[in-house]
Amino acid sequence: MHARKKPTLVALTGAGMSAESGIPTFRGAGGLWENHRVEDVATPEAWARDRELVLRFYNERRKRMWACEPNAGHRGLAELERNFDVTIVTQNIDNLHERAGSSRVVHLHGELMKSRSTLDPRLVYDIAGWELKLGDRCERGSQLRPHIVWFGEAVPMMDAAIEIVGAADVLAIIGTSLLVYPAASLVHDAPAGARRFLIDPHPPAITDPDLTVICAGASEGVARLRALLEA
Ligand code: NAD
Repeated sequence: MHARKKPTLVALTGAGMSAESGIPTFRGAGGLWENHRVEDVATPEAWARDRELVLRFYNERRKRMWACEPNAGHRGLAELERNFDVTIVTQNIDNLHERAGSSRVVHLHGELMKSRSTLDPRLVYDIAGWELKLGDRCERGSQLRPHIVWFGEAVPMMDAAIEIVGAADVLAIIGTSLLVYPAASLVHDAPAGARRFLIDPHPPAITDPDLTVICAGASEGVARLRALLEA
């Protein structure tokens, strides 16, 4: 006897997913990210100009992340693995999906807890604790940088993400303003027959007559999604 294959669910998540855990969203504070202009901390130009500032910015994000816990929305997505073959495709650089128990998480914009070589991008390391410092070097002797996809850089996981979303039976878009490309274009990559949901207290406008909009925060929204899917 063969077990019946579970339907595939892809959750496309953004900064709003982690807002109820205490990690501020990006557009929330008038276009500033934690009081910094994005150009000053999250671009290759910023890194070329002031490595110390960029390292300090991400060290602060890392420290803050460890003080935060996954919320009921993260946990609800992990629990959906009982009935669905779930993949999370996230724009978030935090590790709250993993800490909630999700087993397959694709980070489109990199991961706070990793560093990589400025000489050879294939050399990626786990960061122990929260601090990455000037003078921390890869095995070939070059400075380590945060393993983050900065604005203006290519998104290496994009092809894999397109393939994952393209095989979805259910697509759940949660807590993203859909203003950052190419990630935002993924909402159009689900197959025509896929059930599509959007969870956001201030939902971005998408022209899709088949989209079910759940106007709520991530915790309540995922609970409502589960009630619709698992009834
Ligand atoms: P965004 O800040 O542009 O948009 C956030 C969205 O979340 C908005 O549509 C907002 O209405 C919604 N939202 C607010 N509170 C919510 C809640 N409680 N529940 C559900 N949704 C809520 O975020 P974005 O579209 O992800 O783009 C921001 C970029 O900045 C991404 O590339 C991401 O890498 C980065 N970022 C990451 C983090 C993180 O890792 N947690 C935090 C801030 C920014």
